[in-house]
Amino acid sequence: MFAKTLMNENIEDVYREIRADFEGALFRPGDLDYGRAAPVWNGMFDRRPGILARCKDVADIQTCLRAVRGSRVVTAVRCGGHSLAGFSTCDNGLVIDLSALRDVRVDATARTARFGGGCLLCTIDSATQTSGLAFPAGVVSHTGAGGLILGGGTGWLSRLYGLSCDNVDGFNLITSDGSVLRADSKENPDLFWALRGGGGNFGIVTEFEVRLHPVTTVILGRGFCVGDSIVRLLQYWRTFMPDAPDNLRWGFSLRNSDGVNGLHDAKGVPVANASALWVGDRTQGMKYVKHALAGHTDVSVQEMSFMTLQALADSDFPHGRRYYTKSGYFQILQDDVIHKMIDSLANVPSRFSEIELAYLGAAPARVAADETAFGDRSVPFVMNILSNWVAPGEDAANIAWARDLFNRLQPAMGPGVYVNFMSGDESERVPDAYRNRWERLRVTKAKYDPQNFFCLNQNIPPRETA
Ligand SMILES: Cc1cc2nc3c(=O)[nH]c(=O)nc-3n(C[C@H](O)[C@H](O)[C@H](O)COP(=O)(O)OP(=O)(O)OC[C@H]3O[C@@H](n4cnc5c(N)ncnc54)[C@H](O)[C@@H]3O)c2cc1C
Repeated sequence: MFAKTLMNENIEDVYREIRADFEGALFRPGDLDYGRAAPVWNGMFDRRPGILARCKDVADIQTCLRAVRGSRVVTAVRCGGHSLAGFSTCDNGLVIDLSALRDVRVDATARTARFGGGCLLCTIDSATQTSGLAFPAGVVSHTGAGGLILGGGTGWLSRLYGLSCDNVDGFNLITSDGSVLRADSKENPDLFWALRGGGGNFGIVTEFEVRLHPVTTVILGRGFCVGDSIVRLLQYWRTFMPDAPDNLRWGFSLRNSDGVNGLHDAKGVPVANASALWVGDRTQGMKYVKHALAGHTDVSVQEMSFMTLQALADSDFPHGRRYYTKSGYFQILQDDVIHKMIDSLANVPSRFSEIELAYLGAAPARVAADETAFGDRSVPFVMNILSNWVAPGEDAANIAWARDLFNRLQPAMGPGVYVNFMSGDESERVPDAYRNRWERLRVTKAKYDPQNFFCLNQNIPPRETA
């Protein structure tokens, strides 16, 4: 009770100090637009921040940091608001909202871009595609680029062009004391290393400087497998992918069939929903995509624009629904693991839930392990159990389904986990996510954020000095 009162008193002081010197928009509970500004993507995190500060520029961010530092008011940083763990919101505290920082400048000749720390993936794609260029990022276009890049960033183009963080040449960042820093291979190289995978632990990135690649059209094949053929398909996939060309990204969503898309007779049975993407030479692509989808039902192979591809999955993950995720890597995908995944669908409480399977390898695996802070690159099979449901009354059942499957699969998992696919109740897994990069990250944290001001994230506590 005392702590709560103290925090509320502090938030009033913080508000007064910010308001005196702020050019962006401030939202407080009771304000007309607060109800539109406050929510984050995951409906599980229906928090009420005491102040939502939509910063106009670097000076506004510095004003917020000056006002809140030392106040004991908890502070969240928000770009796209898509943290699966709900880190970009809080109750009673301050949210530093970067959504007004969405400027994108493309240098088509140099194939580079600079963009603001509040960009969504679609903001970047719209700007870069006018020059026929693309930045490798995620598969849902309303995701924020800030959180995605800082945690690593995997998506349609990563096998060919690397993780998002592998394509960053420099960051402009504000540390908790309001200092403006540059992090690249020459200036603050330790910070440059840490920001490529270490998440939002070190400061607020106001600008990303990145490399782009020529991509305008792609070939996407889709199809389904049901019943026993799923096992045979995944057995084939696991042997095929290690030698597949980087241009091919072939992955699956395992779920219960909804009885549409050519599966009228198979409603409610497990289905492997395959997507095989090819980026590059068309003739070769058609060959590989058709090969990948041989034996599938309802196969479609389409040449489509990169913009269409990027938005294809948007409506499967609407804002405001409830989500819970558990993730892990597998060095090899054993039969037992495949069977456990398929069997788990018999008890899945929501028709929207799925098990995503991807094979990374390729370009990301060729980056040396210690070149960036990003977690393990050596374990190629990536699994994401994604519970996705509507009714708050069904939280317990949906969370339990994901946890139960995870617990049964965990003994077979390889080391590590991708921090951006973790939930908010997994802080004990963060050291495992970074493994032998953990101590170096803690030292870097101690240098740039010694008070652990940026703590609403998959947290890296500063290493204590003697
Ligand atoms: C629908 C959906 C699809 C996804 N698809 C993919 C995918 O294809 N590939 C993939 O790799 N990941 C994917 N993810 C995971 C995604 O990378 C993370 O959820 C990520 O945090 C989203 O970034 P955001 O900026 O929207 O997050 P926010 O919720 O806005 O922020 C999350 C955290 O990131 C940090 N942060 C954000 N911006 C900044 C900044 N500018 N400076 C400093 N810190 C910052 C803060 O610590 C903050 O707490 C997906 C998530 C969702 C919800």
